[in-house]
Amino acid sequence: MKIRFLGAHNCETKDTRLISLLIDDVLAIDAGSLTSSLSLEAQQKIKAVLLTHQHYDHVRDIPTLAMNLFLGGANTTIYSIPAVFEVLEKNLMDEVIYPDFRQKPLDKPTISFSAIEPNKAQTILGYDVLAVPVKHGVPTVGYQLGADGKTMFYTGDTGPGLAECWKSVSPQLLIIEVTASNRFTEWVAGGGHLTPSLLERELAEFRELKGYLPRVIIVHMNPNLEKDIAAEVAAVAKNLSASLTLAHEGMEINL
Ligand SMILES: [Zn+2]
Ligand SMILES: [Zn+2]
Repeated sequence: MKIRFLGAHNCETKDTRLISLLIDDVLAIDAGSLTSSLSLEAQQKIKAVLLTHQHYDHVRDIPTLAMNLFLGGANTTIYSIPAVFEVLEKNLMDEVIYPDFRQKPLDKPTISFSAIEPNKAQTILGYDVLAVPVKHGVPTVGYQLGADGKTMFYTGDTGPGLAECWKSVSPQLLIIEVTASNRFTEWVAGGGHLTPSLLERELAEFRELKGYLPRVIIVHMNPNLEKDIAAEVAAVAKNLSASLTLAHEGMEINL
């Protein structure tokens, strides 16, 4: 499984992009930087997009991807929970801000929506996919993806309280969010995000429940706080004797 981090942050700047992962060139998870990172040809290879939740930084490239696929005569399927489809339908592809590409062209729609059921395993493009609810301000699922005996889990945006989630997944690679540095711990926990100190607790609980810790890659950092986050994550890695790395745009992992 080849995992490319197209966007690794929660804010877009000249140097940072919004969160998007690309698996083996064909399956994307979250859509914050699909069109700004990929050529038209690469975009046409994407046959499935899994969305964790409805927030703008995770869904905003669905209309722009759809336009490119429409013009190129290609199509893709968007997988998510129903709450996300409602937002896309009402607020992004509402025929006011942008066309509803589920109707265009009529005979072979550019985009189709496929609802996933949390905690129920399913196969998408040959990958074993399990959507698992996490803790965020709106309905959100993380995705476990398995293929050829390799398994990764991406949390999407989440706050603390992942014990139930950990029981459902057994990844070799954990991609988890840390949005802010420790001085914001109280502030972000209520909004459903993690800081390095909150991450440490969640990882300790993972190890207690599962008896091991996977390799951990951190995403969704606020670029303004990244220096502090990096230093604090390094301390967590030391405390837990674990491998924790901050993702960056263009990073590639072969699992
Ligand atoms: Zn969010
Ligand atoms: Zn986000």
